Amino acid sequence: MNRNKTRTNSLLRLSLGWTLLVLCPGFALGEDQSSFRCFPENEGKCVIEQGRAGAVILNLQEPAQSVKGEIWGKPALFKNINESGKVWLAYLGPDRVQLPGEYLLKVKIKDPAGKTREFFKAIRLREKNYPEEKLTLQEEPYTPELLAQITKDNNALIAAMSAINPVCYWDPGFVRPVPGDVTSPFGTRRIINNSPRSPHFGTDFKAAEGDEVHAVNNGKVSIVYQGYLTGNSLIIDHGCGLYSVYFHLSEIMVKTGDMVKKGQTVAKAGMSGRASGPHLHFSLRLDNTYIDPVALFEISQQVDQELSGANPKISP
Ligand SMILES: [Zn+2]
Repeated sequence: MNRNKTRTNSLLRLSLGWTLLVLCPGFALGEDQSSFRCFPENEGKCVIEQGRAGAVILNLQEPAQSVKGEIWGKPALFKNINESGKVWLAYLGPDRVQLPGEYLLKVKIKDPAGKTREFFKAIRLREKNYPEEKLTLQEEPYTPELLAQITKDNNALIAAMSAINPVCYWDPGFVRPVPGDVTSPFGTRRIINNSPRSPHFGTDFKAAEGDEVHAVNNGKVSIVYQGYLTGNSLIIDHGCGLYSVYFHLSEIMVKTGDMVKKGQTVAKAGMSGRASGPHLHFSLRLDNTYIDPVALFEISQQVDQELSGANPKISP
């Protein structure tokens, strides 16, 4: 009788499972032992702030050939981070003006036989207030020639970080480009002479003229460029839609197309272009959106610890 009951139960579970699968394609993850972990996490929920970074680790029961995600209308590419093909990591970066609210991360998993399945995970995007900075500056208006030059520079730099390379060169943990403190944080809204300007799309780090600047992760040099405002500029493609940007350099030691390693000295800090003194202006751009670099450094450290831990706590 017990055996019959067990059989009925498992039949019921099986048919319920199929019903759920049919009604909600994408609900299948809960049926197996696969699990999902978010960074940052708040009371079991994935919560990311506007303009900051998040990460998701997917621990699958069966190996996958590829895992691709999508959220806030942008791709979220996952990297297979162990040989089993079962552990996948993606970094997420909502724009600082993306509307707060509940979003669904849609994940498509392709198994080694080419069969795909989908599931969804709720991610809450929380509002973040960025500080305002009011400055009064004596400004000479740009000549039309200079304006044309600045537009050309901007277009060249944006073009060098627009393609979404499906290969992820990065390792889970990122390093800082220079050891110095932050002197101007990401996202500050700038009001100059009472008129709003573009917000600060990077983080300024304290650095002296000639200080070594390191690649924040493995990647491929996307462009070495000299801009009127940005000075000697370097952009590294880390793959999976992520780029790092280094401005006002005094020297660049790599060239377009070079492969670089995490921590490699790629340049020296300076004050080329328009800068009031030597420092490193550093940006991270993920899927065509600037995100707070410090937030990604912090998240990637947590992710790295989780992945290298003896007993990773990956909760369902
Ligand atoms: Zn800056």
